Amino acid sequence: MTEKIKGIAASAGIAIAKTFILRNPDLSFERKTVEDKEAEKKKLNDALDISKKELNEIKATAERELGKDKAEVFSAHLMFLSDPEFVGQIESKIDSDSLSAESALQDVSTFFIQTFESMSDNAYMRERAADVRDVSKRLLAHLLGVSFTSPASITEETVIIAEDLTPSDTAQLNRKYVKGFATNVGGRTSHSAIMSRSMEIPAVVGTKIVLEKAKDGETAIVDGLNGEVILDPTDEEIKAYSQKAAAYKEQQAEWKKLVNEPTKTKDGAHVILGANIGNPGDVTGVVNNGGEAIGLYRTEFLYMGRDQLPTEDEQFDAYKEVVEKMKGKPVVIRTLDIGGDKKLKYLPLPEEMNPFLGFRAIRLCLERQDIFRTQLRALLRASAFGKLRIMFPMIATINEFREAKKILLEEKDKLVAAGTKVSDDLQVGMMMEIPAAAVLADQFAKEADFFSIGTNDLIQYTMAADRMNEHVSYLYQPCNPSILRLVSHVIDAAHKEGHWAGMCGEMAGDATAIPLLLALGLDEFSMSATSILPARSQLLTLSQEELAKHKEAFLNLSTADEVLEYVKTKMK
Ligand code: PEP
Ligand code: MG
Repeated sequence: MTEKIKGIAASAGIAIAKTFILRNPDLSFERKTVEDKEAEKKKLNDALDISKKELNEIKATAERELGKDKAEVFSAHLMFLSDPEFVGQIESKIDSDSLSAESALQDVSTFFIQTFESMSDNAYMRERAADVRDVSKRLLAHLLGVSFTSPASITEETVIIAEDLTPSDTAQLNRKYVKGFATNVGGRTSHSAIMSRSMEIPAVVGTKIVLEKAKDGETAIVDGLNGEVILDPTDEEIKAYSQKAAAYKEQQAEWKKLVNEPTKTKDGAHVILGANIGNPGDVTGVVNNGGEAIGLYRTEFLYMGRDQLPTEDEQFDAYKEVVEKMKGKPVVIRTLDIGGDKKLKYLPLPEEMNPFLGFRAIRLCLERQDIFRTQLRALLRASAFGKLRIMFPMIATINEFREAKKILLEEKDKLVAAGTKVSDDLQVGMMMEIPAAAVLADQFAKEADFFSIGTNDLIQYTMAADRMNEHVSYLYQPCNPSILRLVSHVIDAAHKEGHWAGMCGEMAGDATAIPLLLALGLDEFSMSATSILPARSQLLTLSQEELAKHKEAFLNLSTADEVLEYVKTKMK
């Protein structure tokens, strides 16, 4: 019987095929102690060897199918398997507690996973926890002698149904056969969702129940445009969705034609479409999708998943690589946004009641100037190799901005005095993500060269609604008039001083918000790379001049729903 299941649209497109149910292997075991510790360690080492061999093979396939940067996740897995801390801790648990290898692995991996998860409501750190979970599962299966159903064994057109897909499951998907997938868990920023977007495989995640409802081998439709899965569809449904799929394919082909085109609105206004990145490897996707800038490079990544702070030279190499790969296009690099929710294991910070309101980002950097100055020197040195812009996160007061800029200029002077080349065209801007700063944007605009509006945080602080808490997610309203008024004020303040204003929060790539942001005069929209071409295509249909006429009207509405209705009916 036909069943329609709602989920989160993770990767656009429509797939119609027979289901392939990917079940998790039974990895249950009895916790026990052992007599022969040496035999247990040998068992561990054998399992490590097989796992490494498999991962090297998967990595090679992923490099071929997905490209080098997407295959990097398997280097991370391999690294865990060779990490003296990870493996050493398992061995010492066998030695000191006489635990079986499985039990020791379970303790150590749980510790690593909990540490990463407690560090963050941050997507990057959740991915690291997912990496440990993924690699530990493989190792455990080998310790128990249990085999996986490998997605690599699929040889006919299918839609995969699973509880979740790990990065290694996703990388093994053969695009020729796997037409789409649907999972019970996950969100838009989970690793498998990110990979499915870059592989352009339609996906719906977070359905909660699809695995329980689906039967192996029945027909299913995965609608990654609307976030729906239809199990055992009727003939009419198959026909309707086939037409929808064909229309979407045509649309994609149209988008691809825009890859080398400048971004223009219907009335010829030019805005910049940039991308948000987390590491230098992401630049390839930006270039392939016609990105005109990097609007946000989250440098936190460089500091995570390691045992000590990155050196100045390591940072310099990363920043230089990004500006060089962007070939003179602007690159906005944000200084370290760590602390509170995103901790580093090698940098102990005090326990806090409200980490989101705590000792983080620029607050931490102004206190730990050793860390801050090292990063600034690396940025300044890299600025000689392209169009680098520096941005400070979480600025709440003018004094913080002044202090950060003063430190930057001190480091610049020292470098110049030592004969090091530094760009003489270096813009220094700030994230607008704290309401106090947004309200005072007119004052900040006298001192900062640009603003980038971080709506992910600005919305949570304005609405006093934790961005990760589903119980208050109804309050997380990008189109609430209060948010739009703040955004409008920030943009106007920048323009008044002759500066540009961008947005690097998720709102910038949201098709519903784009007409509103264009009407408000936003200059730069920074989003995930795969959203760039759809946004460029949408902008071609919009007239900035016409939309701007609606500004007063929508800013004076009372609710987010009224704004959404207004934009849908009046601002096409
Ligand atoms: C934001 O807050 O909107 C932002 C872009 O930064 P992050 O998501 O890294 O907090
Ligand atoms: Mg932020």
